[in-house]
Amino acid sequence: MQKKVTLVGAGLVGSLLSIYLAKRGYQVDLFERRSDMRKADISAGKSINLALSDRGWRGLEGVGIAGEIRKIAIPMYGRAIHHRDGSSAYQPYGKNDQAIYSVSRAGINMKLMDLAERQANVNIHFNERCTQIDRAGNRTVFENSETRKQTSIPSDLIFGSDGAFAASRLSMQLSADRFEYKQHYIEAGYKELNIPSGPNGSFLIEKNALHIWPRGNFMMIALPNFDGSFTCTLFFPFEGEKSFQALKTREDVHEFFKTEFPDALELMPTLAIDYFDNPTSSLVTVKCWPWTFDDKIALIGDAAHAIVPFFGQGMNCGFEDCVVLDKLIDKHQENWAHIFAEYQHLRKPDADAIADLAIANFVEMRDKTADPRFLLQKKIEARFNSKYPEKWIPLYSMVTYSPDIRYSEALKAGEKQEAIMQQIMQIPGIETKWDSQEVENKLLSLI
Ligand SMILES: Cc1cc2nc3c(=O)[nH]c(=O)nc-3n(C[C@H](O)[C@H](O)[C@H](O)COP(=O)(O)OP(=O)(O)OC[C@H]3O[C@@H](n4cnc5c(N)ncnc54)[C@H](O)[C@@H]3O)c2cc1C
Repeated sequence: MQKKVTLVGAGLVGSLLSIYLAKRGYQVDLFERRSDMRKADISAGKSINLALSDRGWRGLEGVGIAGEIRKIAIPMYGRAIHHRDGSSAYQPYGKNDQAIYSVSRAGINMKLMDLAERQANVNIHFNERCTQIDRAGNRTVFENSETRKQTSIPSDLIFGSDGAFAASRLSMQLSADRFEYKQHYIEAGYKELNIPSGPNGSFLIEKNALHIWPRGNFMMIALPNFDGSFTCTLFFPFEGEKSFQALKTREDVHEFFKTEFPDALELMPTLAIDYFDNPTSSLVTVKCWPWTFDDKIALIGDAAHAIVPFFGQGMNCGFEDCVVLDKLIDKHQENWAHIFAEYQHLRKPDADAIADLAIANFVEMRDKTADPRFLLQKKIEARFNSKYPEKWIPLYSMVTYSPDIRYSEALKAGEKQEAIMQQIMQIPGIETKWDSQEVENKLLSLI
């Protein structure tokens, strides 16, 4: 008999997982709290932008939909660093054509829903908010936001893919003994801003780059959209001398941008409106355990492991969850007790690792990308990697371009490499002899 699966949340991960399961013949019902965003008046260009990289692409390729997503993705081959004096510098992300891809969050979500609905055995139900998972009865309870009608849906398997503030996870927390749960908010929040397109949809700054304005304990980034505009995100402390709290009037905002982001200010005619209209949102890391219950319920994506966005990996990590789960379905021939046991034991250390790496990368992005010694260190690493690719892969490349390396392995290797680089950077005169045989020999002796 065809197994029935309930997915809570038709976000990025739930929509992709539904395709994986449908292709294996499961009957999949996705329940989404929101209304159908494809019918609402949302311009895809006006949503958060996400960086999609190799782990995410692998997840999409696994069900043959990478080609469809490529049509809505813009490659970014490097970082464009914008300094306070208005000058800028370009740092390639990897080798040659290695890139991360800018996608609109709403755009990719809508596309994934379309692709999910192309499967005969996937149904998406909108305006259905999960209120509870009834473990004993193997049922998920939803309330319809328009009619207030409650429905209790029986199924063989239940996946909580309802994001960082998951109701499915809360239901497990309330019903499971010894459920571990930890959440941490960083001191900064974020706000979306906008750089519109130039004449005839032209890009007013480099199209194929992720733009960063690093300023110590805060920063702004900008990712390109197809219509020539850029979605900017200001990552900024909630409180303090330079903070969301401190900017109270349009004049405050204008003065602040004039001092900190003068080149961007010229390109942001709607800054004051955007700043006060758009919400200020918080950034949370969630760690929990276990992720699976009674051999029939599992958490996946942000519901299991919400992370801060500074390595651009939240969605990529969630898509990788789907890849791992799919492999385990083959390995354990649909024995879900075995699949779930191995799924959580494999993924938990990797999710914890990328959560920690993402926090660490906030400091790197907002602070160090403008530091000449940090840039020199990256240059030495890149040179060594190009000569000895089998001996040294920079941490960023391991995380972003090397899906065969687990996040937990990347974290360990990255720590080891960082300790070595600290020694290399102490070599007297490293600024002038960074590409010498002496430095290369020293590196070879240390690894
Ligand atoms: C500012 C910012 C920038 C980011 N940048 C990147 C990036 O560059 N690269 C990257 O890989 N990741 C990035 N991320 C992370 C990425 O957005 C998430 O990891 C990803 O969206 C997780 O997908 P998900 O499906 O698990 O959760 P979500 O996308 O949050 O989807 C959850 C879905 O569940 C629904 N839902 C919630 N509660 C209920 C309920 N009770 N009942 C029914 N449905 C419910 C929601 O409406 C939503 O549709 C960023 C995140 C932020 C905040």
